This record gives sequence, structure tokens and C-alpha cells, in this order.
Amino acid sequence: MIILKTDEEIEIMAKAGRIAGECLLVLRDMLRPGITTKELDKVAEEFIRKCGAIPTFKGYMGFPATICTSRNEVVVHGIPDETILEEGDIISIDVGATYMGFVGDTAATFPVGRVSREAERLMEVTREALSRGIAAVREGARLGDIGYAIESYVKKHGYSVVRDYAGHGVGRNMHEDPSVPNYGQPGTGPVMRKGMVIAIEPMVNAGGSEVITYPDLHVVTRDGSLSAHFEHTVAVTGEGARLLTLV
Ligand code: MG
Repeated sequence: MIILKTDEEIEIMAKAGRIAGECLLVLRDMLRPGITTKELDKVAEEFIRKCGAIPTFKGYMGFPATICTSRNEVVVHGIPDETILEEGDIISIDVGATYMGFVGDTAATFPVGRVSREAERLMEVTREALSRGIAAVREGARLGDIGYAIESYVKKHGYSVVRDYAGHGVGRNMHEDPSVPNYGQPGTGPVMRKGMVIAIEPMVNAGGSEVITYPDLHVVTRDGSLSAHFEHTVAVTGEGARLLTLV
């Protein structure tokens, strides 16, 4: 069941989204070779709590940390640990913050030091794919329009979207209906209604689309190729998408 949000609820969600988005910027500014993902996680938790919010992911399905840190061939759900980031790595950081009962969910992939041209290009294409998906958000349009916008752009650049994981509705729960796939056909799928809030999150692999999910739920590319991931939480309004996690 898709739960539509009132204008008042969307204002609260914009605050949750802003906290998550600001947290992501704080972490981006900390990135350098030699830092561990656990250090990033500690700062993220302190930041979110200082803002009067709660780390959404912590304890969710047993997840032990505040953020997901997914390095290189890790697609999503990487668990912060003693892993030391190295020059040339790319790292997706996914942040969830719950404020006054509502969730903001956002992610971005960043370079650590100088990275290869190929890694730069993968990140740029994935970021633009998210923008194309967001541009397809319109009251009365369909979710397939979003997936089509994302996948067609990604394919054109020789990359593949992950099909086993998708974006999702967001509200009082991090994962609500509907599922928001990163592929689809125009004019198909659920109709977007004013008050719908969804997380759009293309996961793009430099190689094939196949992934492996480990028992601790972290996901890697089957062929070991690099993967990038960008995510915003957006509300469907009478005037297209309102980005709730953009800072
Ligand atoms: Mg999400």
C-alpha cells in the first residue's frame, strides 16, 4: 500500500532529508587515503544524533552501523569496519536519518584521492542517471518512466543497472511501497500521485548487472567490476519532484 504524505509531513521529511544530506557532506569532506570506514561511521552517528535525529539503519534487519560504506566492487550495504580507504578507491556512502518519526535516505559515491578516469566516468554517469530519473517525476506519470530514464541513459554509456535492488517509498518506514526499479518501460507501473515520497537510487555497474548478496546482506558485483550508487529522497508535488535530501 502506498502511503501518501500530507504537506506537513513532507515538511518534516525535508528536515530529516536535510540532516541526512548534510551528514553526507560532512563525511565527503573527511575522505582521504588512510581513513577507515569505521571512523566515518562514528562521525555520522554523532552528527545525526546532534541534529536531534536517529540513525535509521542502525539495528534495521540487524545492521550494526549508522551508514553503509560500499567500496569499489561493493554495490550497497557495505558494513563499516577497520577497512582502510586507499588512494584510487571509490566509495558509496548511504545515510539514513529519522527525524520526528520520518526518514530521509540519501547516498553518493565519492573518489578517495585521485581515481582512474574509468571510475570518474562511472560516478558521473550514475549521478546523471539519478538526475534523469528525478526529472521523470511528475504527478500523473508512472514509475516505469523513472526506470526507463535511468536505464536508457546508463546503457547508452555501456554500463548496466543492478536489477536485484531498487529504490522504494519512504515515510515513517525506510522501505515502503512502491518499489522503484532502475529499469522499466515508459507508461507502465504505478501512477505518481501528489504526496508520494520515494527514494530513487540507481546502482550502476561498470560490467554486468549480476550481483551476489552475502549473508550479512552486503552486495558485490558478480564479475568484480566497479559499482557506483547515488540516491535522493524526493516528493511528488504538483510541480514535479521536490528533492528532500539535497543540501
Ligand atoms: Mg534507499
